[in-house]
Amino acid sequence: MTVKANENEWFKKHEILLITTARRARERKEKETRAKVEADEAKKLRELHWMHCPKCGHTMETVEKYDVKIDFCRACEGIFLDRGELEQILIAQDSARKSLFRSIAHALTGGKISKPDD
Ligand SMILES: [Zn+2]
Repeated sequence: MTVKANENEWFKKHEILLITTARRARERKEKETRAKVEADEAKKLRELHWMHCPKCGHTMETVEKYDVKIDFCRACEGIFLDRGELEQILIAQDSARKSLFRSIAHALTGGKISKPDD
């Protein structure tokens, strides 16, 4: 191989390396920019919609029901439950229901019905 051919080969390899490095840096920067735009958009949406009724858009307030803090809209009387809150309410209601039925059974039978195991 001639000196000129060696030079051309060296430049070709290094140009490919430079181009690849520049492309990776550009792709990384684009990915960071997209992530920042998405995070900014998510933040904007959160600020715009936080504690606003998904049905009518009015401001919601937090109220406590069955020892669970739920979001309540005074305008349309809608409620919004966070993850797990429905289960908490159902469990609380189930205990209250069992307690109520036990009280009624106790009152009607004069305490002759034994308390079932839960
Ligand atoms: Zn509402």
